[in-house]
Amino acid sequence: MHESFRISAELLGLRGEAQEVLHANAAAAALAQFGRKVFLRAVVEVSNYCRENCVYCGMRRDNQTLTRFRAQYHQLVELLIHHRPPSVTDLNIQTGEDPVAVREVVIPLIQAVRRETPLGVSVCLGSLNDGLYDELKAAGATIYIIKFEVPDEKTYQRLEAPGTLNERLEHIKLLASKGWKVSSGFIAGLPNQTDEELLANFETARQLPLAGCSVSPFIPGEATPLADAPTGSLDLTLNCMAMLRLMRPDWVIPAVSALNLAGPASGYGRGLRTGANLVTMNLTPSDIRGDYLLYKRDRFIMTEERILTAIEAEGLTPSRQSLAEFYRTRKVNGSAVPIRDPKTISSA
Ligand code: SAM
Repeated sequence: MHESFRISAELLGLRGEAQEVLHANAAAAALAQFGRKVFLRAVVEVSNYCRENCVYCGMRRDNQTLTRFRAQYHQLVELLIHHRPPSVTDLNIQTGEDPVAVREVVIPLIQAVRRETPLGVSVCLGSLNDGLYDELKAAGATIYIIKFEVPDEKTYQRLEAPGTLNERLEHIKLLASKGWKVSSGFIAGLPNQTDEELLANFETARQLPLAGCSVSPFIPGEATPLADAPTGSLDLTLNCMAMLRLMRPDWVIPAVSALNLAGPASGYGRGLRTGANLVTMNLTPSDIRGDYLLYKRDRFIMTEERILTAIEAEGLTPSRQSLAEFYRTRKVNGSAVPIRDPKTISSA
């Protein structure tokens, strides 16, 4: 972090020209660290069974309105080996917290993908156990995505997030100690979230052994206790993204698909203009995608065409090197970029 940059509540609230300067600074930090390259991964959502009951998530186990599915190995392997879009360099496998799917579908899928393709593999499977983490790694996955969600134990428990916050943080540290590249993250704009709590996310993230971090706007999930709560603000989320980028220029920061739900038509492009350097294309087969319900059924699906158009529109280019390969070969570069004061509008 550059010494002149400080996380502050004032930055959360920036709008207009001052906000543009903040975002431009973040984009400049990403450019200095990563060049114009943006990593492009595909996500497949393999199971919506979930043993957890997160109040904000549509896949929570108490949601009886959902048709539960586990994708079949053969349904996905053919798609990923022979029919994936050519620009994809990495695969992210995501599920509700479902160890059965991990054993029966995810691990064989990782083995096949690693054997038959050059794709790097990330997983986002929830809080599992030591043995499963090792089996996933032995199969060939190298990046684990596991968000700490909120930085405060009481709020974490009120939201019924997995286990306790302390346990979630211990999982993150365990994964990193086992050689995983760990990406974590938090949610901006949750009901009743204060600026103080939002700012505490940065301190929690800063203390963790992370390779990347995301911030997602809160999206009120269908059939959840928070279904009637307002959507998290896109501006607030983007300001958090910019602050993350300026705090850690070296982190990989995704433009999450929920940006498009918080800001239809503009969210994704604005994420790329705020220092994001990873985008995700959805390859979940359409017959099961509708039931992978984090938020609502009318999801905005990022196709290859939409992604490539968004990247090009921002003067960026898709990386041909996979994120997994980038992590494997990168020389750690902790150098910070010069940060301009976001209030210095004349220097925008
Ligand atoms: N079950 C796994 C886990 O707990 O990590 C992975 C799947 S879970 C659906 C992935 C992420 O979705 C969560 O970490 C959470 O941050 C995010 N999520 C779920 N519901 C959300 C909502 N309503 N708004 C914003 N993010 C949400």
